[in-house]
Amino acid sequence: MFKGIAASQGIAVAKVYKLQQPVLDIQKASVEDTAAEVEKVEKAFAKTVSDIEKIKEVASKHLKEEELAIFDAHLMMANDPDYKAQIIDKVNTEKINAEAAADEVSKAMVEMFEAMDNEYFKERAADIKDVSFRLLCNLTGKEIPNLATLDSPVVIVAKDLTPSDTGSLNKEFAKGFATEVGGRTSHSAIMARSLEIPAIVGVKGILDATTNGQTIILDAIAGEVILDPSEDQIKEYEKKAADFAAEKEALRKLKDEPTVSKDGHKVLAVGNIGSPADVDGVLANGGEGVGLFRTEFLYMKSEDDFPSEDVQYEAYKAVLEGMAGKPVVIRTLDIGGDKKLKYYSFPEEMNPFLGVRAIRFCLQRKDIFRTQLRALLRASVYGKLCIMFPMIATVNEFKEAKALYDEERAKLIAEGVKVADDVEVGCMIEIPAAAVLAEKLAKYADFFSIGTNDLIQYSMAADRMSEPVSYLYQPLNPSILRLVKMTIDGSHAHGKWCGMCGEMAGDELAAPVLLGLGLDEFSMSATSILRARRMINSLSYEEMKVMADKAVELDTMEEVTDLVKASIGK
Ligand code: PEP
Ligand code: MG
Repeated sequence: MFKGIAASQGIAVAKVYKLQQPVLDIQKASVEDTAAEVEKVEKAFAKTVSDIEKIKEVASKHLKEEELAIFDAHLMMANDPDYKAQIIDKVNTEKINAEAAADEVSKAMVEMFEAMDNEYFKERAADIKDVSFRLLCNLTGKEIPNLATLDSPVVIVAKDLTPSDTGSLNKEFAKGFATEVGGRTSHSAIMARSLEIPAIVGVKGILDATTNGQTIILDAIAGEVILDPSEDQIKEYEKKAADFAAEKEALRKLKDEPTVSKDGHKVLAVGNIGSPADVDGVLANGGEGVGLFRTEFLYMKSEDDFPSEDVQYEAYKAVLEGMAGKPVVIRTLDIGGDKKLKYYSFPEEMNPFLGVRAIRFCLQRKDIFRTQLRALLRASVYGKLCIMFPMIATVNEFKEAKALYDEERAKLIAEGVKVADDVEVGCMIEIPAAAVLAEKLAKYADFFSIGTNDLIQYSMAADRMSEPVSYLYQPLNPSILRLVKMTIDGSHAHGKWCGMCGEMAGDELAAPVLLGLGLDEFSMSATSILRARRMINSLSYEEMKVMADKAVELDTMEEVTDLVKASIGK
């Protein structure tokens, strides 16, 4: 049995599908029979074209039009007569094997495009790399796995899944995934929760231990992976999966209930989303609003350029309309760190998580930031909009971002464009410096939302992507609770509200302390909302206040955990 971190709850029993790129080892060799090599080239090109066509056909069943454009670009490349002619010419003139010729021609093309001082052409280099990799695999008889072509139920086993891998997952067949790396707050884990598919991350050794087609049980409640289970084990886990589904059904009864403690203290249980399509999930799970719309997914999905003002406007409008007047917190662009764009190269940095990320990027690229602010303001008339800036470290950063917002707002009004007059502009608290100074920031911000995924990584100096230091992800450590308390107290001192949108907000054991500390809004993956409501509705606010006061005075996470468990009778 393998163990990892249960990142998205659920149970899956299916066959293994390994998402592992083949390793190419191209050796150059001289050949006599160039005609045979030319024939290999012809066949490999034909297969490459038909592979891409097949992938596109399957993908077209669940991807959107704009997401399919990438396959057309690849088809164009694979059908390019000049590309093929250059390879054949090299085989004939240099009398070398087909794969070496294809490798050399492709590399030269990639280098040429990469050297161009133009984002569009740099992006084409990535396309050539993709297509030539497929061509070389076809020349050397190697298979490339592809998530878009899944057509039977599987559990995906991979080193890690990129945000675009998780974006192309088809829930009908992708029953779950297990990855070697990643923590509870890595973005693949967050995506798994929003897709509602079971996932276990940080499962060391799982890639080497599995083969395609092998039966696998993914117990993403206990964080356990079982390979080649017995018939009895399969039955046992199928029952567990059914029980899990039944509990989910029972929780549905709380869907239209408020989130309110036994003694009448009301809070909001709201959802985190990555795209307008996720609104349905939040509503289906009884979300009282959206506490975090991660707009970077809009930017990461875009193929060739930053999404235009109109494209963004449509997305924000769709979310606001979908939530029908319930509060919607939209976060401005949080790019950088592990979140990359296809059409923009970030400068190389030793520590991207400590570099030009989020608001730092937006304050450097004000043009991009202004476009987003305009789109948000234009959409504001369609619901109750709250905007927040990520990764604020200082009061001046917040003031600078807010000033740009005020400028764009004034410009739009001068242009005669309608904007809502109840838009709130808040500040994410995810850097310890901001938590410590929350009381000052609260003078300028309309609300706070605590991003505990980053707040914990920066407080503990422990990379949220790193499995070996994942034990330092300690939401219940008194150090973290003190930062959370400072933030909540700081906001309340100025009559502002304080939410939390990091994963801690959906953690059932953290909920009692957060309630006691006075958190006003709990924002989490849609699938956690009803569990959190069940927990909060069973608690006494007055008792939790007393308990939380004790918790911040303790020494260790273990002591806090024991105290919380005792307070809720567990
Ligand atoms: C956080 O840091 O807690 C957060 C909500 O933002 P993200 O996970 O997108 O960095
Ligand atoms: Mg964050």
